[in-house]
Amino acid sequence: MKTYRIATIPGDGIGKEVVPAGREVMQALAEGSDFRFQFEDFDWGGDYYRRHGRMMPDDGLDALRGQDAILFGSAGDPGIPDHITLWGLRLKICQGLDQYANVRPTRILPGIDAPLKRCAPGDLDWVIVRENSEGEYAGVGGRVHQGLPIEAATDVSMMTRAGVERILRFAFRLAGSRPRRHLTVVTKSNAQRHAMVMWDEIAAEIAREFPDVSWDKELVDAATARMVNRPSSLDTIVATNLHADILSDLAAALAGSLGIAPTGNIDPERRGPSMFEPIHGSAFDIMGKGLANPIGTFWSVAMLLEHLGETAAAARLMRAIEAVTADPALHTRDLGGQATTAEVTQAVRERLPAPQTAGAPAA
Ligand code: ATP
Repeated sequence: MKTYRIATIPGDGIGKEVVPAGREVMQALAEGSDFRFQFEDFDWGGDYYRRHGRMMPDDGLDALRGQDAILFGSAGDPGIPDHITLWGLRLKICQGLDQYANVRPTRILPGIDAPLKRCAPGDLDWVIVRENSEGEYAGVGGRVHQGLPIEAATDVSMMTRAGVERILRFAFRLAGSRPRRHLTVVTKSNAQRHAMVMWDEIAAEIAREFPDVSWDKELVDAATARMVNRPSSLDTIVATNLHADILSDLAAALAGSLGIAPTGNIDPERRGPSMFEPIHGSAFDIMGKGLANPIGTFWSVAMLLEHLGETAAAARLMRAIEAVTADPALHTRDLGGQATTAEVTQAVRERLPAPQTAGAPAA
């Protein structure tokens, strides 16, 4: 029997509710299967910061390196500045383990009342690939003369040829694995005339390695309009750290709710564990009330299972998720319903098909 070592990091806010729910569903999936999970829980986040003055231990990455995958909740605390919670935990893990490809599938699940009136469910089926290791979030910059009239600050967007080549190669490969075999490369190379022009040039170079994948280019501002007006013209999308961060929140909203959307922070070379998480944040307005939608976490678990090669288990979970979203009585408040986190979790558990019945892949 295979045993997968899974690190769980609930973090802050509703992360403390949705990660235990995800773990519960993973345990249910393992029952009767030929694999099991060995969980290790890490209490890093805002409370840890108040006790220790940092979001996670200095040697925390070492504790993660031996794991097969990480299930993450959220980082964000009303009492701690956002740049500390983000850089001290989530980005420290993503960059420390060089999980350079952030993958965000989006589609309209059955039963979800998505806001685009001219969009049939099948018209919106995207995967956004976000560069996850450098760019606008490279952390390069500084502040001088703080508090003085001559104060100055910089955030340098750092793009390297190696970083751009590897994310574009990953995106072309992923696009080639999907039925449409189409990639849209999003930049802002009209206004940002150095690094973004380099992206365009490298995209044309890498495209030659993938003759079976069609591709086009779009400026990020035009990409937002295209997502709304012509969703079916898009399939796989690749963009920089900042651009894809924004586009994927738009994608999640267009698919019905932030509470549904999943993501994986992937190390394609598998030098260490990859990390899976719902894309929503800590949502302090609903924390502790049992109202958080756990579907984004469950879909992230499906991605985790696919990454581990457990595609049949991922398909079982996606079937259960879709059976639950199809029933409005099982919608949480963000979807206009009344169901609680516990009720949705229980419903997904109950609808898991038996282990031998596989179906479609998760992303
Ligand atoms: P952060 O600063 O950590 O990103 P935030 O509160 O600014 O957190 P989100 O957590 O992404 O941003 O939440 C935005 C809104 O969406 C909130 O009103 C929140 O209640 C709602 N929301 C987000 N995730 C969920 C969820 N899983 N279930 C229900 N509502 C959600």
